[in-house]
Amino acid sequence: MPDTDLLVIGAGPYGYAAAAHARARGIRTRIVGRPMSFWREQMPSDMYLRSGRDWTLDADGVHSFAAYFEERGLDPDEHDPIPISVFLDHTEWFREQKRLDVEQAMVASLTAPDGRFEAAMSDGSTITAERVLAAPGIAHFTHLPEWYDEVPADRRTHTSERVAFDDLSGARVAVIGGRQSAYEWAALLCDHGAARIDVVHRHDTPAFAKVSWAFVNAYVDQTEAERGWWRSLCAARQQEITLEFWRVGRLTLEPWLTPRLAREVVTSRPRTEVVSVEVVDTRAVRLALSDGDRLEVDHVVAACGYRADLAAVPYLAGVLDRVSVTDGFPDLTPGFETSLPGLFVTGFAATRDFGPFYGFTKGCPSAARIAVGEMLR
Ligand SMILES: Cc1cc2nc3c(=O)[nH]c(=O)nc-3n(C[C@H](O)[C@H](O)[C@H](O)COP(=O)(O)OP(=O)(O)OC[C@H]3O[C@@H](n4cnc5c(N)ncnc54)[C@H](O)[C@@H]3O)c2cc1C
Repeated sequence: MPDTDLLVIGAGPYGYAAAAHARARGIRTRIVGRPMSFWREQMPSDMYLRSGRDWTLDADGVHSFAAYFEERGLDPDEHDPIPISVFLDHTEWFREQKRLDVEQAMVASLTAPDGRFEAAMSDGSTITAERVLAAPGIAHFTHLPEWYDEVPADRRTHTSERVAFDDLSGARVAVIGGRQSAYEWAALLCDHGAARIDVVHRHDTPAFAKVSWAFVNAYVDQTEAERGWWRSLCAARQQEITLEFWRVGRLTLEPWLTPRLAREVVTSRPRTEVVSVEVVDTRAVRLALSDGDRLEVDHVVAACGYRADLAAVPYLAGVLDRVSVTDGFPDLTPGFETSLPGLFVTGFAATRDFGPFYGFTKGCPSAARIAVGEMLR
């Protein structure tokens, strides 16, 4: 008999949601990973969330984010936008309420001999499981510009590595990218005393306005109401919805950033890209821009987002030859199962088959219900 019916690999929002719901449905479940490590270690501690209290983790509808606010006696108006520290406290509260004992060992490699799974753990132990749900998040999928390697390693960071800013006080920084993370990192650099910040991006300068994510609810509800809904849509309709999501999420940025982007420090460089890099001396690099300008900077921050590449998830190497993948995304059934029976994948890696909402916490409860429902079918 395997050690557990279900092994959840990943202790982020998707892992928490799935493990809690699987337990509630009577499935023997173990969950491994470092609790909320991506949020704790790869996001700045003074960051704010874009999502609100209405996005919850609980597939059973009890321990919602709103319930956490109520129990802690927090005034929503005083926490809008939500600081990352409040979100993390909420996830810890959720973990306690659901009695999730996260085993903090990491999976070194996963194999699937004899129709069951074997996870070799970083502490030398092994966990065997009937099924595995992998919730790898986005940490392995960082996207970098082609020229990035030409910048000396000590003078460049991806936003997922750049969580502290004091060392860049007084520095000249180029932020490459123009979405929320680019402008939020620019704001954080301002807060921490950077001397000059150029935000370089191919598209127009985004709008800064309050947006509502409410339109997403209907799409997520539809995903649950109709098995395989997103996959059943024609490419044009998928693109239309993706564009709607893109307009709200990527082309419109949070208005609370504006006052923090000091005019005398931050220069927006829309419709521009870096065409070449020259190392000037031990401190500076010079970026030649497509509009003919040259920028001499001390540091480059790549805010270029994430691109799915399942092969980049190290612990999946031992099963990858049995997992069908398209454009870096696993091909999933309407129940989040890969082509390797018993292996489920949720989160950003599932967005090709489930829609862009499943890269955000909005998708956690429904992904948990769908995947666990599939396991019980
Ligand atoms: C700057 C930024 C801001 C964001 N803001 C928001 C927001 O406001 N709202 C929102 O909904 N989303 C936001 N997101 C998206 C957010 O990343 C996802 O919603 C969320 O993290 C997805 O959760 P996850 O569980 O899939 O992955 P993650 O949170 O990344 O969790 C991955 C887990 O896997 C574990 N793990 C890794 N390797 C192993 C291993 N070998 N063995 C075992 N475990 C392992 C890690 O320890 C971690 O626990 C933001 C993302 C970024 C980059």
